Amino acid sequence: MPDQKLLARLPKVDQLLARPELVSLEEELPRGIVKQAVRRGLDDLREAILAGEAVDESRLALAAVATQAARLARELARPSLRGVVNATGVVVHTNLGRSLLAENALERLLSLNRTYTNLEYDLEEGRRGSRYVHAAQLLADLTGAEAAIVVNNNAAAVFLCLQTAAQGREVIVSRGQLVEIGGSFRIPDVMARSGAILKEVGTTNKTHLHDYEEAITSQTALLLKVHTSNFAVVGFHTEVTLPELRQLADRYHLPVMEDLGSGTLVDFSQYGLAKEPTVQEAVAAGTDLVTFSGDKLMGGPQAGIILGKRELVEAVRQNPVNRAMRIDKLTLAALEATLEIYREPEKALKLIPTLRMIATPYEELRKKAAAMLRRLRGLGLKRLQAATREGASRVGGGALPLAAPRTRLLELAVDGLSPTRLEQALRANDPPIICRLEDGRLLMDVRTMLPGDEKIIAAALSRLAA
Ligand SMILES: *Cc1c(COP(=O)(O)O)cnc(C)c1O
Repeated sequence: MPDQKLLARLPKVDQLLARPELVSLEEELPRGIVKQAVRRGLDDLREAILAGEAVDESRLALAAVATQAARLARELARPSLRGVVNATGVVVHTNLGRSLLAENALERLLSLNRTYTNLEYDLEEGRRGSRYVHAAQLLADLTGAEAAIVVNNNAAAVFLCLQTAAQGREVIVSRGQLVEIGGSFRIPDVMARSGAILKEVGTTNKTHLHDYEEAITSQTALLLKVHTSNFAVVGFHTEVTLPELRQLADRYHLPVMEDLGSGTLVDFSQYGLAKEPTVQEAVAAGTDLVTFSGDKLMGGPQAGIILGKRELVEAVRQNPVNRAMRIDKLTLAALEATLEIYREPEKALKLIPTLRMIATPYEELRKKAAAMLRRLRGLGLKRLQAATREGASRVGGGALPLAAPRTRLLELAVDGLSPTRLEQALRANDPPIICRLEDGRLLMDVRTMLPGDEKIIAAALSRLAA
């Protein structure tokens, strides 16, 4: 039997809306949201009573219900897409938005979206122009490519290139390169949708040049190489290099395409990381079409960059499907500003957050962690235990899968909270703090922390360990 007495004690909507906790809220939040929160708060209580739960009478007091409704109203008004603290140490974190934009890219994004622009207007001729010209020359200058076009993302770039160059005909790919990357992008599936016919050659671990050659027929349209960016094959393993593929393709007058995936414009081996093929190297090898992401190792906005021979790039531009995958002006603004930084590569390392984080020296990370530890100890929280230790970060974004750049970690524990509960509580913070749980320990990697994050973390821990 539901407790009728308790049900009768539920406050009325109007009584609640007149409470100071909610009246003051109406200055910052739309009235509709406050009302919605009040109704929802009452519904929750009513359901709990009807379900026979032991609802304490104190929860039904006007002030208590109003306070709970105010909390709910703030939650309802909160945007769905929010900023978070990335304390995972995964730099290009796919789930946390991949790359952060450089300051000048952010400024350009703002300024060019406050005014009209020459997005599709030819200023010299005074008539309609093309949006595709904007980043194209800069990309060509930076990479040595004949031509360039930018689309919505790299998945679109790969799809468009395959459809343009090989619809209804065969594309030869090594079985070792039929990759799946996050978010259900699989080379064989993309190929099928593009209308190109997949011709697999070789084996998972070994593909030789003669495997490609034996598969070439009058139906062959393209030789495709896919950079296996998110995993590594170690041991008994052979892959055909781009220059070898180029030579073979020349003998049969075929084009070669490479999907680089993460695509970097700087050579990471200079910074003690594994060698990742650069975009410039792919272009220099004479590749007809090169595709890569704008927001992985390049550290710009989400975009799919297509470089290559003028004729093929022009055919991609004219493909009607391109219209459905075209780049928007926010992206173009941020992309051009990001690319400008690469004119001086040593500046790119400092100004592009993705590159700066990957290349941060251990000594700097050690100092950052030590400062953070001092700050946390300075809070004087008896329930908080904090220490620093060495560990490894990850590059992420399906790039440099074996790279484990040495980093400094903060190991944190709060008495009375299991590491799992602590992780949840930090994730529920506003803004959320995303940490690592490793071997049952809560860890924060300082590599991906931004200026200001220490303050957010300190405030959250003060609350949790008070
Ligand atoms: C990431 C990736 C893609 C897809 O790029 P998006 O920018 O996510 O669309 C395609 N191919 C490879 C090899 C990749 O690593």
